[in-house]
Amino acid sequence: MTENLNLFTSTQVVIKDALDKLGYDEGMYDLLKEPIRMVEVRIPVRMDDGKVKVFTGFRGQHNDAVGPTKGGVRFHPAVSADEVRALSMWMTLKAGIVDLPYGGGKGGIICDPREMSMGELERLSRGYVRALSQVMGPNKDIPAPDVFTNAQIMAWMMDEYSRIDEFNSPGFITGKPIVLGGSQGRDRATAEGVTIIINEAAKKRGIDMKGARIVIQGFGNAGSFLSKFLHDAGAKVIGISDAYGALHDPEGLDIDYLLDRRDSFGTVTTLFENTISNTELLELDCDILVPAAIENQITEKNAHNIKATIVVEAANGPTTSEATKILTDRGILLVPDVLASAGGVTVSYFEWVQNNMGYYWSEEEVREKMTKKMVEAFHNVYNVSSTRNIDMRLAAYMIGIRKTAEASRFRGWA
Ligand code: NAD
Repeated sequence: MTENLNLFTSTQVVIKDALDKLGYDEGMYDLLKEPIRMVEVRIPVRMDDGKVKVFTGFRGQHNDAVGPTKGGVRFHPAVSADEVRALSMWMTLKAGIVDLPYGGGKGGIICDPREMSMGELERLSRGYVRALSQVMGPNKDIPAPDVFTNAQIMAWMMDEYSRIDEFNSPGFITGKPIVLGGSQGRDRATAEGVTIIINEAAKKRGIDMKGARIVIQGFGNAGSFLSKFLHDAGAKVIGISDAYGALHDPEGLDIDYLLDRRDSFGTVTTLFENTISNTELLELDCDILVPAAIENQITEKNAHNIKATIVVEAANGPTTSEATKILTDRGILLVPDVLASAGGVTVSYFEWVQNNMGYYWSEEEVREKMTKKMVEAFHNVYNVSSTRNIDMRLAAYMIGIRKTAEASRFRGWA
């Protein structure tokens, strides 16, 4: 709870800084400091034992001045209103950074999907859509997968909305199975986006990706795909970790073998004896460090010991604001989460565009379009950071919030 509150308030602090730097007044901050709409719903679900259990769900819509709001729905026991608020604001920033015609949205249900049957999950997913169908829709607010939700859950949600709407509405949600209008490349989009950003950052620091020494914290969806892409591109992944420990080999780990052995929760280190801790992993001598696990991993306690030349945040919120300052003062290039992990929402946008057109692109076309957006976004943020002499996080927030602020001003909302 405190952590979520911190996430919310620390996001507000950087948004305030960004709006101040852009020259907006207090009225604009007052508008953008929290979602314009925050809905809490109670969802009754018939469980397999015949009893009804009532779940609590949320949907936050940060600002829809630019266009419909967009963002994932997570199923997790720790979901809270403050977390949803903060994450909806982050989605506005991501959409602004990669220049999508969206505002930010986010949703969640307090539940533990690991303890639910497929039937219970289907009824819960459909119940969420029924509870929120009036405020969501292809031109209002478009959900997507997030923590512990997947293409199957998106399919149930799309089907439920289509029944309510009495139209087949693939554009209601993204991250769907390909046969229901999902986009090629959506499942690997976040890691591909991070890979593109790493390549651009490496060029700025004169690091050749062939043989570059990479350390990745987290071997789940984001971390494992990423390690594969970087390994295949000729980089040397010398460290990886999961919740139970870390593996280190200065000569480079056998990534294909590790991918083959990891379980569906991203665990692999338990199979080995010579492990090191996550704390040691973060401080390894390397060229590029990628936190791709959980929040608050680089703090004022260990920021002085980080040896990487570049830190790219694939996880949400892995670096505290104190640590951001320390790393920046030490000359380490820190690429923030809102930029690095924007590949997912970018390809979600492409999925929605394809649904609206009823015409579908090949994987190569999707990759080419995403690469263009991510490369442009990196350079925009890097240039603002260099010319204004500010860290890349503040630069990313300035670019991310500007479009929404301008659209709100034109509409007369601030
Ligand atoms: P995941 O659950 O698939 O994997 C998480 C990994 O982190 C696992 O290897 C797990 O063992 C490890 N881990 C968990 N607790 C840990 C701890 N205390 N110390 C070290 N490692 C720990 O999650 P994911 O989808 O890969 O997401 C990882 C991060 O990337 C999250 O912050 C997420 O919000 C962010 N992200 C993911 C996506 C995506 O498309 N998957 C998109 C945007 C952002």
